[in-house]
Amino acid sequence: MTQAIQAPTQSAVSSGATFTALKCKECGTEYELKATHVCEFCFGPLEVTYDYSKLSQTVTRETIQAGPNSIWRYRPFLPVETNTPIDLGTGMTPLVQANRLARRLGLKRLFIKNDAVNMPTLSFKDRVVSVALTRARELGFSTVSCASTGNLANSTAAIAAHAGLDCCVFIPADLEAGKILGTLIYGPTVMAVQGNYDQVNRLCCEVANSHGWGFVNINLRPYYSEGSKTLGYEVAEQLGWQLPDHIVAPLASGSLFGKIYKGFQEFIKVGLVDEKAVRFSGAQAEGCSPIAQAFREGRDFVTPVKPNTIAKSIAIGNPADGVYAVDIARKTNGNIESVTDAEIIDGIKLLAETEGIFTETAGGTTIAVLKKLVEAGKIDPEETTVTYITGNGLKTQEAVQGYIGEPLTIEPKLDSFERALERSHTLGRLEWQQVLV
Ligand SMILES: *Cc1c(COP(=O)(O)O)cnc(C)c1O
Repeated sequence: MTQAIQAPTQSAVSSGATFTALKCKECGTEYELKATHVCEFCFGPLEVTYDYSKLSQTVTRETIQAGPNSIWRYRPFLPVETNTPIDLGTGMTPLVQANRLARRLGLKRLFIKNDAVNMPTLSFKDRVVSVALTRARELGFSTVSCASTGNLANSTAAIAAHAGLDCCVFIPADLEAGKILGTLIYGPTVMAVQGNYDQVNRLCCEVANSHGWGFVNINLRPYYSEGSKTLGYEVAEQLGWQLPDHIVAPLASGSLFGKIYKGFQEFIKVGLVDEKAVRFSGAQAEGCSPIAQAFREGRDFVTPVKPNTIAKSIAIGNPADGVYAVDIARKTNGNIESVTDAEIIDGIKLLAETEGIFTETAGGTTIAVLKKLVEAGKIDPEETTVTYITGNGLKTQEAVQGYIGEPLTIEPKLDSFERALERSHTLGRLEWQQVLV
């Protein structure tokens, strides 16, 4: 086992810190709070541990509410020491009560956690990167990097620019134009790798071992992944310090799914919310659904697949936290489902037309799975259900091009407008009749 490259400087944990160690999720071996992510004994993933008795003594609903309007209101639950974290207003995104979508699906109380408008780069990844780069700075890294399916490169490049860190990101060469442009604009070095995400990730593991860089989702992964817990904290706080009955979230590596679970458990543990059994359901695209397959077949191991789907942001064929996601869905009486690319496009349109929220393919996947689960009777209409929308549709425009109609081109004359309006009404009625038949 190669030792992780040490960062140039290491700072000791100050006495005010609430995080205590890195601990192997499999064998429990503890490690110092450095830039390392794999257990040397059993190759299990490392996770940050906290001093929960200290947290329950010092954190209250009031201290949280007095904090900034960003993920950093939960700083004691995040693995950083500084009181001045990198804060671009990440987090505290709207929790929208989705009444029109609920009625369409036959649910009574449905909410959308809308990270399509997260800051600064319009996806949930801003949460994990804000935490990872704050920690990277504490550990003394000057160059940061990532292996990305698109959104992570956007976030890492933007937040590194703000923090004045050098940045080099790795992406699969065939990403959507909006994701590539939305990275290049911040001026990082961009390596477009001719291969899929899993090949990009393998290359980055080698680079992480040979260069002293902070890879947010490799050697900094234990810190990075903690950022996703804020998706759980915020929903609990926004529901009036209560947990929902059921959540539906997308699965790529499976990390965010497990961290929403950890976030809820921590809030229960320190007494910020009442104990409640929340059901966890996960969403994958059929063209890359190794976790859904393992769940369906009752396996406790995940067999890697080769991705082939329009949902590129969640196309990870060999998901690092897949087995943990399966375990959580099972023990909470949830489900993991997959949907086709056509259903994903319908999901994007359904959310846009009912709620005015334009999501990317990952969000389309989640909405389509939500619909599938309701239709199969796997979500009770009475359940308070929260669906996580993790990315913005403007970044994956090519996914819906050709499926959304076209503008009516008219001359700048009133009669041209009237004719076009008449035509569109007739068309609208015809379409409506087809639906009714
Ligand atoms: C990365 C990503 C996910 C999934 O993240 P994991 O934590 O790896 O499961 C979901 N949605 C979007 C838009 C993403 O970019």
